[in-house]
Amino acid sequence: MIHFVGAGPGAPDLITVRGQRLLEEADLVIYAGSLVNPELLYLCKPECVIMDSAKMTLDEVIDAITSAEGCVVRLHTGDPSIFGAIREQMDALRAQGLSCEVVPGVSSFCAAAASLQAEYTLSGVSQTVIISRMAGRTPVPEKENIRSLAAHGATMVLFLSSGMIPAVCAELIAGGYTEQTPAAVVYKASWPEEIVLRGTLLTIAEQAEARGIGKTALILVGGFLGDDYELSKLYDASFSHGFRSAKP
Ligand code: SAH
Repeated sequence: MIHFVGAGPGAPDLITVRGQRLLEEADLVIYAGSLVNPELLYLCKPECVIMDSAKMTLDEVIDAITSAEGCVVRLHTGDPSIFGAIREQMDALRAQGLSCEVVPGVSSFCAAAASLQAEYTLSGVSQTVIISRMAGRTPVPEKENIRSLAAHGATMVLFLSSGMIPAVCAELIAGGYTEQTPAAVVYKASWPEEIVLRGTLLTIAEQAEARGIGKTALILVGGFLGDDYELSKLYDASFSHGFRSAKP
């Protein structure tokens, strides 16, 4: 059994209890060294073998896992389901007769919302969160280009795109957001060196450049970062639901 574990966004106490227990038991840990906080590795037993996948190819990762004995943890940043490239690893391992389990983690998009004290799905503003990335060296399916996703005017969270914020903002505006749409950049959410920038689509690129933010950041866009919204029905005194009757 190979355990794919979400390490969380950075702060070592944002891993799940289950993930922590597996790290304590592991005989081999392969961690994504470019983003996983190495402090988490102090949880491992002294004899645990630790490898950094940042310097490895897919074949090397699979070889290391298949030749290991005991408990193997593949430690991914945030939640493994978001830009984790876990599918190709699980398919290769299953092809060799090994079984896998996934332990979810706190994705950086959740940590960024926490840092902003924001709610992505605000009543009367947006009920949809688009998680995507700008095409760069790795392409994005044509129908999902930022410009067409922008047409929804929904809450948008962009991963892997903070190296090209000016181009991202230009595409978002070309797709339909106004220049005044609130935007934020969160660098290293939940790490001690976290930076939170708030602005608009017109200003945010310059703000990020001034702080030298190039990678390990999320771009967040939408009315959810603004001041206007409607109160939810959930706590509306005149609204009945399964757990509460409306008050006259
Ligand atoms: N599985 C991860 C994402 C991996 S892709 C998750 O769920 O968060 C790597 C990208 O995630 C980075 O380029 C950056 O855009 C974002 N990222 C990862 N950790 C971050 C953090 N602590 N703060 C802001 N962005 C982060």
